[in-house]
Amino acid sequence: MAVQKLNRRHARVKLPKLGWVKFRASRSLDGETIRSATVSRDGRHWFVSLLVDDGVSTPAEHRAPGTAVGVDRGVVVAVATSDGELIDRNFTTAGERRRAVVLQRKLSRAAKGSVNRGKIAGKLRKFREAERDRREDFCVKTAHRLAYANAVVVCEDLKTRTMTRRARAVEDPCHAGRFLANGAASKSGLNRAILGKGWYRFERALTSVSRYTGTQVIKVPAAFTSLRCSVCGHVDPKSRESQAVFRCTHCSRPAEHAEVNAAKNIMAAGLLAVSACGDDP
Ligand SMILES: [Zn+2]
Repeated sequence: MAVQKLNRRHARVKLPKLGWVKFRASRSLDGETIRSATVSRDGRHWFVSLLVDDGVSTPAEHRAPGTAVGVDRGVVVAVATSDGELIDRNFTTAGERRRAVVLQRKLSRAAKGSVNRGKIAGKLRKFREAERDRREDFCVKTAHRLAYANAVVVCEDLKTRTMTRRARAVEDPCHAGRFLANGAASKSGLNRAILGKGWYRFERALTSVSRYTGTQVIKVPAAFTSLRCSVCGHVDPKSRESQAVFRCTHCSRPAEHAEVNAAKNIMAAGLLAVSACGDDP
């Protein structure tokens, strides 16, 4: 793949069928061997991602052998670890959210197809882009920290997660066979939004940084991790007092943050999976 540097900021790449395409380089490409180029579009912007051979080989052993952590990606906090750490961040400020509400209202009043409407929509899009960029930043930093500190990181397999945490159907006590609104639509919408955009990025960042740290990333099925007691193993939906609190109905352990309890179950499942493979973590 041919890439030519044009000046300090810009370079051009020769793409099949398109010919030379100029782009702004986000970092120096000096001395890099380019393997392939991927072109993508995000809103009005086009991006070209270049795959380079950085010559880094994954270390055979992590610098902290024997360390492991389980990670739960929840709704209450973004990330909870089996060490009891709750990692979260607001991606927008109160002022930004207020301005977004005002913009949204203005947008609904602006005439369709008007120049003004386009301007308002542009501002709203910028707001959402900023939020997404900050989430990406948060995911990358959290993934780095966990991968550098732990030889094994266990997280849930996201494919199963979307199916396991549906809102339960609530039957209407007054009308047999009819169901009350349980927020299932909004909940699944929320899950989709967070799972799809934030947590997938976290997983990707984790896999990516693990190449440099030698961290082993293990994915375990998500079933029951939020309902099982991490001390006695009893599974009971009633133990989950609320989104945030887990109080086992079977043993006398003290109440714990529900997502930390889930993270401990995830770690236990991950270590079991590792030892089953005959690979001692
Ligand atoms: Zn228990």
